[in-house]
Amino acid sequence: MILETFPVGPLACNCTILGDEEAGEAIVIDPGDEAGRIAGRLTELGLKLKQILVTHAHIDHVGGALRLKRLTGAPILLNENDLPLLAMMDEQAGWLGVAPPETAPPDGPLADGQFVGLEKYAAQVLHTPGHTQGSVCLHFAPQKLLIAGDTLFAGSIGRTDLPGGDYGQIIHSIQTRLLPLPDETRVVTGHGLETTIGAERRSNPFLRGQ
Ligand SMILES: [Zn+2]
Repeated sequence: MILETFPVGPLACNCTILGDEEAGEAIVIDPGDEAGRIAGRLTELGLKLKQILVTHAHIDHVGGALRLKRLTGAPILLNENDLPLLAMMDEQAGWLGVAPPETAPPDGPLADGQFVGLEKYAAQVLHTPGHTQGSVCLHFAPQKLLIAGDTLFAGSIGRTDLPGGDYGQIIHSIQTRLLPLPDETRVVTGHGLETTIGAERRSNPFLRGQ
């Protein structure tokens, strides 16, 4: 399995390329910016992009998705509860003082329980609202891998002060959907360092006593 995570854009959103080198296929998660660079890396790796998965519709995670789709032909999948946020791209760009990226409605949903990804490396969608109403995590159970978007960070959790955020809801989502996963589950977060479920259960200050 090819797994490359690298920060893109001014807010350093972690973009992930997950590939099956034998099949020559890949998915990209959260192409927030730098679509040309992401597409170039896929070409270097010899991988055809099958899906663009967006953990939530904040500008720093979705901003490069349409450009990457145009460069590769891959469909964009997003949870439908974040469609209102996707429609607020001008306002989101205003928060950052940047030009709004062009967006379009997703080609398909990321609904709770749905399987997405590659034939060999499939992920189950966990709907984990709280950071936004349409936030999802992607769980690759056989690989003990979780792509967490902005729901869970190393030692922190996603902010809930933006439109669609809800503190009680994100805590509930993490408690009921993420902490039950095996301790050794590797967590690729939406910003910053990787962690594991076990490390966060033990020491995340937002989850103490949960
Ligand atoms: Zn976010």
